[in-house]
Amino acid sequence: MKNTWKSGIITLFPGMFPGPLQHSLAGKALDKQIWSLDTFNIRDFSNDKHLKVDDTSYGGGEGLVIRPDVVHDALLCAEENIGSSEQIQFIYTSPRGKPFNQDMAKEWASNKSGIVILCGRYEGIDQRVIDYWSENKNLMEVSIGDFVLSGGETAALTILDACIRLLPGVLKNEKTASIESFELDLLEFSQYTKPCVWQNRVVPEVLRSGDHQKIAAWQKNSAETITKNRRPDLWSKYLIRTNNKNC
Ligand code: SAM
Repeated sequence: MKNTWKSGIITLFPGMFPGPLQHSLAGKALDKQIWSLDTFNIRDFSNDKHLKVDDTSYGGGEGLVIRPDVVHDALLCAEENIGSSEQIQFIYTSPRGKPFNQDMAKEWASNKSGIVILCGRYEGIDQRVIDYWSENKNLMEVSIGDFVLSGGETAALTILDACIRLLPGVLKNEKTASIESFELDLLEFSQYTKPCVWQNRVVPEVLRSGDHQKIAAWQKNSAETITKNRRPDLWSKYLIRTNNKNC
């Protein structure tokens, strides 16, 4: 039987999925059933005759908040259809969440059989259902950056994309992922292709030399310089790790 990695998206806008993920690598992998996608429309779980899912915020304020009972039923339905929190990572996309990173993508792609992502809208979701699922089902609040989106759907697409490309059989050459940015706490070295000269800028000679040792040394140096200049946080991690290794 095929080991399909499952994804479930709880959203008010199911039409946004698979969206960009129906193209290129992720799209081909979806066709090959390397991963699957199910959407759960939050509105389908409303008990209101007008299918209302939100209400005004206690304490005042302009915005609307999505009700806990409706979201709870949507999460239960996703749990029943996608899997329990032992195999599936439950996620709530939120600017208040843990910053998303490559390690999380790796963990979920390799050690979980899928993810369920709850997408917020309006002012967000009633805190009680988030607390209940965090305490009982290991739901993790995850942010994709220090900015506010109008909804969790684009964050969900980002998280899914990062996980899917790490699934076995998605990348043509799986070694690609092992030399990309954030591996070994470094950003990737600079890449070049043809033509050899463009706008008077020449591809570094060493990359055309065929000397694999020199090429590897150049790439390491390029990755280190770029990381040091652009990401002092990553650079410190890299130095600690490499110094410890050398001790
Ligand atoms: N009132 C919220 C706040 O100030 O933290 C923002 C709500 S936002 C307009 C609506 C929804 O978009 C959120 O519930 C969340 O699901 C999603 N969202 C917004 N920014 C996000 C981010 N940086 N990362 C992940 N999800 C985000």
